[in-house]
Amino acid sequence: MQPQSVSSHLWRGRPVWAEIDLDALADNIGLLKSRANGAALLAVVKANAYGHGAVAVARAALAAGADRLGVICVDEGEQLRRAGITAPILVMGHTPEGEAQRLADLSLTPSVASGEVALAFARAASERGIEASVHLKVDTGLNRYGLPPSEAADLGRWLRDSAGIRVEGLFTHFASADEEDKSYTMEQHRLFLSVAEQLEWVPIRHVSNTATLLDMPDMSLEMVRPGLGIYGCYPSSQVNRSLSLRPVLSLKSRLARLTLLAPGDSVSYGRTWKAPRPSLIGLVMCGYADGLPRVLSNRGSVLVRGRRAPIVGRVCMDMCMVDVGDIPDVAVDDEVVIIGRQGEEEMSADEVAELCGTISYEILCGISARVPRLYLRQGRIVSKQTLVMELQDEVAVNVPEEVLAEGPSPGGA
Ligand SMILES: *Cc1c(COP(=O)(O)O)cnc(C)c1O
Repeated sequence: MQPQSVSSHLWRGRPVWAEIDLDALADNIGLLKSRANGAALLAVVKANAYGHGAVAVARAALAAGADRLGVICVDEGEQLRRAGITAPILVMGHTPEGEAQRLADLSLTPSVASGEVALAFARAASERGIEASVHLKVDTGLNRYGLPPSEAADLGRWLRDSAGIRVEGLFTHFASADEEDKSYTMEQHRLFLSVAEQLEWVPIRHVSNTATLLDMPDMSLEMVRPGLGIYGCYPSSQVNRSLSLRPVLSLKSRLARLTLLAPGDSVSYGRTWKAPRPSLIGLVMCGYADGLPRVLSNRGSVLVRGRRAPIVGRVCMDMCMVDVGDIPDVAVDDEVVIIGRQGEEEMSADEVAELCGTISYEILCGISARVPRLYLRQGRIVSKQTLVMELQDEVAVNVPEEVLAEGPSPGGA
């Protein structure tokens, strides 16, 4: 029997899909929280939850013990509110004054790095009769967004004495917490604490992304902000891996068609690959518009029947072709794993990222909205989302008898 997951028997829709293992997500959150010295956990669900689907992940993360959610922009917060999520949501990026009304209407908590934005938000909130909660962002050395440490304490005190505003949080973000050399992180931390000491009345201080939580759990303070870790990946090869996080996402497809080519026949645009021998080529309906980077042309591989099949020719917008000539008994409809496990083999997001000269973050959040998301618990689909369908719970899951009899294979999600 070819290794194939139970879920792939259940999805007969578009032959490329992402499986999101909500059990792994919940376990990862539990593990990260256990590392956090009793701190609250803000689950970072920006960028469509790193490509996993913001609404489903936010719900599952809260159910698994996350206390709050973190996004980058107001639209991301609104998406969660529209789905009925009432947990506190921190908008961690720069929000322009023009968004103040929406922030207030949606009960989102902005991060602020200037008095103007904070006051615009306070005005919008007081018009609605609510108090504006904000988190002050201090830039301690990423040199990206935030107040310089020399100005942060003054603004903090000024906001404390302003009507209608409450400084609920104080935070910073590290530049190189995922590197072995922690000296710059220690320096950023020291600067942050020097501000925090002057604003000791602020209830929630937070600095920890995934790498910090893994390597320096003593920095957890009142709250931690892991992103990548809740999705089961590690920020770099240098961080501590003792927590055994499990990857949440698999990207799968099915062989749509097989073509036998003669030696010398070329494949795809630009004819960059020519068959060196009689070659069996499989069509995979996943391209760069789905998030399969074009730089994998003639470089990446996918898994078919538990073996690696190289991507041949250029990755197109909507499809790619793989050489399946070395795969015994290969057949149309065979499951293709682009990211994830199949049988004994694994193609991790890290490996794909490395081939592309990037990091797993970019590969994951690049999986586009066109790719259907199937949400799994115990290997069964519990909800799904496609481009044209909001997140929907599955009412009845009909696993074919013969599949149940075989049991979930090692290729299972
Ligand atoms: C993205 C982000 C995080 C999460 O970082 P990970 O490395 O994914 O854990 C935390 N804080 C801020 C401000 C972020 O922008």
